Amino acid sequence: MQMLQDKVAVITGGAKGIGFAIAENFVAQGAKVVLADINADHAQESASKLGGKGTALGVACDVTDPDAVQAAIEAATGEFGSLDVMVNNAGITRDATMRKMTLDDFEAVLDVHVKGAWLGTRAAAAVMREQGSGSIVNISSISGKVGMIGQTNYSAAKAGIVGLTKAAAKEVAHLGVRVNAVQPGLIRTDMTAALREDVWNAKLKEIPMQRAGEPEEVANVVLFLASDMSSYMTGCVLEITGGRHI
Ligand code: NAP
Repeated sequence: MQMLQDKVAVITGGAKGIGFAIAENFVAQGAKVVLADINADHAQESASKLGGKGTALGVACDVTDPDAVQAAIEAATGEFGSLDVMVNNAGITRDATMRKMTLDDFEAVLDVHVKGAWLGTRAAAAVMREQGSGSIVNISSISGKVGMIGQTNYSAAKAGIVGLTKAAAKEVAHLGVRVNAVQPGLIRTDMTAALREDVWNAKLKEIPMQRAGEPEEVANVVLFLASDMSSYMTGCVLEITGGRHI
């Protein structure tokens, strides 16, 4: 028996990085997935790598747009018949110290992470409450726990996702819907490939396990939260950091 046999999942930002690793993991465990990403071509290319029609569908979705988020959910219910798992993963960074950060940088990051996760949680919960079951997993960051220099926008957004997760978990627990979050640390993706070498090395020094994490290591924890293995967990925030900032 696979962990997500015949389950249907939507993964925002699923075309690459952590989102794609989550999708790959879900498909390996029997799920059908919708990759909802800002770039339609990337979403469709990634969906075909996962088997394409019948297994994975790539759709254009800007998570800051309520209609696009709703359309991604409807793509799952329309194409695959239900929505069992929602992963609010899409993310961006616009790092700068407050002296240099523009209001646009601040608002863009808050919009994608907080508004995006809220829209995804709200739209998914509306379907899941009707079917009496479902698991929503929000991707926060260790930056939201400890706060990081140059990330007043991102740390605020990722902390906001924790509050959103806990409040939503309380609202929908009695309807059979669980809402949890994860806080990855330094994970090897395009997002962190942009870091300067000295910044990367300084972060590495903070990690008791002395290495960065791989997207698959985040995907495994998300799989646990998505599946019935975590059936008595809601409102939880799991750290995936190699021991950093514990
Ligand atoms: P990534 O490789 O940059 O992938 C993010 C994906 O989200 C990309 O496909 C991106 O598309 C897409 N995206 C961006 N804005 C979007 C929007 N408005 N609507 C829909 N999709 C959008 O990043 P990642 O490292 O996998 O990060 C995934 C999540 O994990 C993010 O929430 C990030 O904050 C979080 N996280 C990452 C790390 C890490 O170390 N990597 C640590 C903690 C938390 P484009 O590339 O076309 O813009």
